[in-house]
Amino acid sequence: MTLTYESSLEFARSMDQQDPLRSYRDQFHLPVQPSGEPYIYLCGNSLGCQPKRLRAFVEQELKDWENLGVEGHFHAKNPWMPYHEFLTEPMAKIVGAKSEEVVVMNALTVNLHLMMVSFYRPSQARFKIVIEGDAFPSDIYAVESQLKFHGYDPKDALIKLWPREGEHTIRTEDIEHLLAEQGQEIALVMLGGVNYYTGQAFQFQRIVEAGHAQGCKVGFDLAHAVGNLELKLHEWGADFACWCSYKYLNSGPGGVAGVFVHERHLNDPEIPRFAGWWGHDKETRFKMGPDFQPIPTAESWQLSNAPVLSMAALRASLEIFEEVGMAALREKALKLTGYLEYLLTEGDDLKGIEIITPKDPDHRGCQLSLLTGADGKQRFDALTEAGVICDWREPNVIRLAPVPLYNSFEDVWHFAKVLRNL
Ligand SMILES: *Cc1c(COP(=O)(O)O)cnc(C)c1O
Repeated sequence: MTLTYESSLEFARSMDQQDPLRSYRDQFHLPVQPSGEPYIYLCGNSLGCQPKRLRAFVEQELKDWENLGVEGHFHAKNPWMPYHEFLTEPMAKIVGAKSEEVVVMNALTVNLHLMMVSFYRPSQARFKIVIEGDAFPSDIYAVESQLKFHGYDPKDALIKLWPREGEHTIRTEDIEHLLAEQGQEIALVMLGGVNYYTGQAFQFQRIVEAGHAQGCKVGFDLAHAVGNLELKLHEWGADFACWCSYKYLNSGPGGVAGVFVHERHLNDPEIPRFAGWWGHDKETRFKMGPDFQPIPTAESWQLSNAPVLSMAALRASLEIFEEVGMAALREKALKLTGYLEYLLTEGDDLKGIEIITPKDPDHRGCQLSLLTGADGKQRFDALTEAGVICDWREPNVIRLAPVPLYNSFEDVWHFAKVLRNL
């Protein structure tokens, strides 16, 4: 896509006028400064803004609980018994999966563990796990604790991927090379879909193929990819994936998470799992029998009954994704992030700031990560002071995410002006 940008405010405003998604900004509560001025909110990769329609979805469930008590499980307007099912289809579309491959449940790190119980099955010859060296800490803790749980020392069994000397992101060919060389010892490759720190989007298809060619399982943590990239999990053939919903999916703090298990693993009695009553066959669940009979879909990994209030919030948000579709979101994101990049790199260099996110749009989502110099934290604090909400990651990275659902070209323009004026 070749798009010619200009640095004037008029240009930003004309981009907003031509934006087919511009009306969605008004459908979100954007955080407001004590002065009454809106913040420039570029932190939707950390916590998405609240959709205005969300309150009514949650209030419906509060009202049914108030009026119906336990009867709400069957007689609520949206019965709570099968409540998670309302989310399956829209979620499956967002991640490019069949509906039987997806279930909404628990929280992200919990689900990583549940997936590793099923798909990290070490043997004497094959026991290693591959992750990014700068993976999100929770993922590192989860993976290391799984290794120890199986009796391995992470020093021997955890392979961390790092960029080459002098580079900031990991080359796909280096991942392929590692798998070709050591694949026979690797049980599981588990990477972020988009690395939270650098904003690098991994090449899903190539990684799945390289892993499977060596007999490894391949799973993804899509926390920063879901609602951001156009995903095709089924087609790519990943074994599993996990994601949270409070970042780009705007379900609210701690919102309920999601899981993908590829069709080929459904209904396979050889695959162990930690079980709970909500994974049991729906017809006979309330016979309360002692033998676990798994549902023949990803739902069999469910443990507990649905957290309905959290799911109601997510349902409101997913309705917006249904309306808009990932293709339109991605199309705007390419322009919006491209515009941010343009404003940060045109004209005079921004002293001491380097964008470490890949330049190629196929290798990133909407986030840009700025590597700052020694004065990075002061710059970040000054941005906050000036009404910008973005994100600081030790030791020296500022993360910015212009989110296509509610951020405007004018937001991006104002941000760049503030940063240049610091
Ligand atoms: C946000 C994020 C998490 C957070 O995990 P929770 O279990 O939701 O607290 C974990 N991993 C990655 C990669 C993340 O981006």
